[in-house]
Amino acid sequence: MIFDLHSHSTASDGVLSPRELVARAAQQGVDVLALTDHDEVCGLAEAAAAAAEQGIELVAGVEVSVSWSGRTVHVVGLKVDAGCAALRDGLRANRAGRRQRAERMAELLAATGIPGAFEGARLLATNEELISRTHFARFLVGRGYVKDVKTVFKKFLVRGKPGYVPHQWAGLAETVAWIRTAGGVAVLAHPGRYDMGKEKMSLLLAEFKEVGGVGLEVVTGSHTADQVPLYARHAEHYGLYASVGSDFHAPGEGGRELGRLPPLPANCRPIWEAW
Ligand code: AMP
Ligand code: MN
Ligand code: MN
Ligand code: MN
Repeated sequence: MIFDLHSHSTASDGVLSPRELVARAAQQGVDVLALTDHDEVCGLAEAAAAAAEQGIELVAGVEVSVSWSGRTVHVVGLKVDAGCAALRDGLRANRAGRRQRAERMAELLAATGIPGAFEGARLLATNEELISRTHFARFLVGRGYVKDVKTVFKKFLVRGKPGYVPHQWAGLAETVAWIRTAGGVAVLAHPGRYDMGKEKMSLLLAEFKEVGGVGLEVVTGSHTADQVPLYARHAEHYGLYASVGSDFHAPGEGGRELGRLPPLPANCRPIWEAW
């Protein structure tokens, strides 16, 4: 069985519609796909219908932006009821500040000699409530300012670089509570991406577990070969189930493909055993 429990569609910053994404997953041999758009569940109905047609299983998911200890971390909710009011209200609040943030990002980019970034990013976003840094990154690449999306996140849009705007998302406990209220399980996404030392990571994992978190993404498109066993040990230590997801956004972008992931290490308890 091939599981891919983290992916994006045009409902957030992916480039494939939910239907196209599911078709691609089926082509790649994925048996169980989770659609986990940022702060948004509006793509799930179309994805579920497409999955029924394609004969694959769709897990209803979401990737929530969280402010924790002065930084942003991502929590994936899996098997959520997308109709749950507490979840919907929380996600709406997370989306609400994005437009203003995007306008501010564009002002900062304009000040460094890059005009028109708001309109550019806005045109690349299908969901107007969900203009993300990825849309800005694609705009900068499309206009030839930067060679690829990965490089954008080194030179722009991150702390200390032009176009960075700090943002207040929901809290960790609050986010896990919405996911649980919606009947889902909360998974801490791509831990290897957070720029924090060992001690801070230990605090994050302990707090995540404490507030009801259930899983840790051990295998993700952004983990190196060394990070997989490292986070497998963390999962074991904190009593968290292990999840697997490509974090696919667009064909060819970031070199991640749906379902093309290494297996979970043997010491892991797969997250699907938790549901
Ligand atoms: P936002 O939610 O608007 O802050 O945008 C976050 C998104 O930017 C992530 O979900 C990724 O899609 C993208 N992103 C962040 N950092 C990187 C990176 N280093 N390389 C590629 N994409 C990134
Ligand atoms: Mn993204
Ligand atoms: Mn993420
Ligand atoms: Mn993601």
